[in-house]
Amino acid sequence: MVGSAIQRKLESEGYQNLITSDRSELDLRRQADVEKFFDEEKPEYVFLAAAKVGGIQANNTYKADFILDNLQIQTNIITAAHQSGVKKLLFLGSSCIYPKMAPQPIKEEYLLTGSLEPTNEPYAIAKIAGLKACQYLREQYGADFISMMPTNLYGPNDNFDLKTSHVLPALIRKFHDAQESGAPSVEVWGSGTPRREFLHVDDCAGAAIFLMENYSEGETVNVGWGEDISIAELAHLISDVVGFSGEIIFNTDYPDGTPRKLLDTSRINNLGWRPKIALREGIASAYRWFQEGRQPA
Ligand code: GDP
Repeated sequence: MVGSAIQRKLESEGYQNLITSDRSELDLRRQADVEKFFDEEKPEYVFLAAAKVGGIQANNTYKADFILDNLQIQTNIITAAHQSGVKKLLFLGSSCIYPKMAPQPIKEEYLLTGSLEPTNEPYAIAKIAGLKACQYLREQYGADFISMMPTNLYGPNDNFDLKTSHVLPALIRKFHDAQESGAPSVEVWGSGTPRREFLHVDDCAGAAIFLMENYSEGETVNVGWGEDISIAELAHLISDVVGFSGEIIFNTDYPDGTPRKLLDTSRINNLGWRPKIALREGIASAYRWFQEGRQPA
């Protein structure tokens, strides 16, 4: 989702000579294959958006896969990029790297000041290792490797599989299916009280290119919308966009995860970047993408 959004944005800004590779051509968990790719293609600027990702249930179920696949993918790419003399690399992490009970909104300096949320600890530990690897390569070797931590993302090429997806695409799918089948209610996981911040992936892509062009420091950079909403409010918003008028049921047998995850985005805002796509408009366009046979808009 993020990689294709960055590619669309780079193309729309007139960048040429883009090197891409999907998972059928290159398994990023295999070190020798990644080294060969860098030797042959010799990229100069690397956006490291590849990762094994998933929602609360997938993270909580496939814990070993989440930590090991992500450590392998990022270690192989960061090492090969450094060894092959890449000019600059941007590593993308996630807002789940911050402590579960971090003060809100979350500033970059709250990293490693408390325990992580258990439902996504394996993913978060891998992402913290990647962020630190970039920081230490800068300190030890002067490598221009930077990192950014986006909040919860959504948009074209999202995962709409109910078992593994994040909440926003899951609810688009659930309300759409209920609307189509005439079901009287939709089940939403957890209590509905956790709060999340959502950013459209095209805004995330804009921030990634902005940082690649304008930022060269070791400290990571938060990327978010700047406001959050409760899962219950999100459910009502999505049911409204989809046109579902039945009942919404909250099933507390499912975990809530971290109570709140709102990023403080002063650092990137002060550098001159702001997001553009408001939530309702973004959900409406994500829903159109979902309905149009899931082809990029
Ligand atoms: P998180 O931000 O890492 O916790 O990941 P998610 O996006 O998967 O979940 C966010 C919140 O939405 C959690 O409190 C979930 O329990 C809640 N949620 C409600 N309904 C759903 C659903 O259908 N799928 C998912 N993934 N989460 C849901």
